[in-house]
Amino acid sequence: MFDIENIVRQNIKSLKPYSSARDEFKGEAKVYLDANENSYGSPLPHAYNRYPDPLQHEVKAKLSSIKGVPAQNIFLGNGSDEAIDVLYRIVCEPGLDNVIICPPTYGMYEVSANINNVAIKRVNLLPSFDLDVEGILEAMDENSKMLFICSPNNPTGNSMHLDDIEVLLQKFKGIVVIDEAYINYARQHSTIRLLVDYANLVVLQTFSKAWGLAALRLGMAFASQDIIDYMNKVKPPYNVNLATQQLALQALDNIQWVNEHIRETVKSRNELVAALQAVKTVKHIYPTDANFILVKMDNAKQMYDYLVQQGTIVRDRSKVELCEGCLRITIGTTQENQTLIQQLQQL
Ligand SMILES: *Cc1c(COP(=O)(O)O)cnc(C)c1O
Repeated sequence: MFDIENIVRQNIKSLKPYSSARDEFKGEAKVYLDANENSYGSPLPHAYNRYPDPLQHEVKAKLSSIKGVPAQNIFLGNGSDEAIDVLYRIVCEPGLDNVIICPPTYGMYEVSANINNVAIKRVNLLPSFDLDVEGILEAMDENSKMLFICSPNNPTGNSMHLDDIEVLLQKFKGIVVIDEAYINYARQHSTIRLLVDYANLVVLQTFSKAWGLAALRLGMAFASQDIIDYMNKVKPPYNVNLATQQLALQALDNIQWVNEHIRETVKSRNELVAALQAVKTVKHIYPTDANFILVKMDNAKQMYDYLVQQGTIVRDRSKVELCEGCLRITIGTTQENQTLIQQLQQL
């Protein structure tokens, strides 16, 4: 049986978390003279002089009803990147522990490991871009504290098989992080529903993609209350600012906009795939469950440079193992996709 207590670092267990003014007095009062804030207000039309709710209760309450997850199983961070970093600091002893990542994948798992001086074991995806379940289990040792699975995966675009994910949840001894940044574009369901069965599961989602709020920096983690409590203990006290909390609340009331644009993105994705198939420098288009397409091209680097000259920036992934010769192209508006296709056809 997985118990987070068995893998939490000793210094984190014994950590006495920062106690803010808002932690020490929680009720309503007429006069607040406890946090050295500016009592006169802010030089802005709206007041930002008071520290925000450290645990973002209102945002979590709304998210809870949308996601069907109790608020105490939700962590909010300054982007999912903060959730990733906080997890490292909870369970990975620098210079001793390791994590398993499955390249080609999102770069932050590795950067965060390096910042925290945590060793990385790489178990590449199979040529089909599926998880190498056996390879992962062979690579695991008693210091393997986390396994990162990105589904749909960046930059390949495919979703990982749910049965592979479940096998890993059952057999991996540490935390299994499923990064679902692109889940809203996928045919596959979120693994959030597996939280009731697996105490070692952490699901990451973000406001940066389908919610269209990358600039606000708001990421979500869903996990057991034990894990969430440790994340809250370790995070900076006011990690999500008030403007972000207020704007996220407004956005959560406009889920219709999000759903409409998911549908539109998926439609454009199909159209872009069809158009790319007719471009003669395109060698292969990988199936995608995300808002981007991985495309193998003749002379990918040259094609990238040419597109830059034309004013269109895609992501050059041609030097990435298993993505040799590939560009990663985000789905744009219909107009932007047409521009891209025209530029590729002109060559
Ligand atoms: C874009 C992306 C994120 C989002 O990170 P934020 O810090 O929430 O903006 C997370 N994971 C993956 C795989 C991504 O591609």
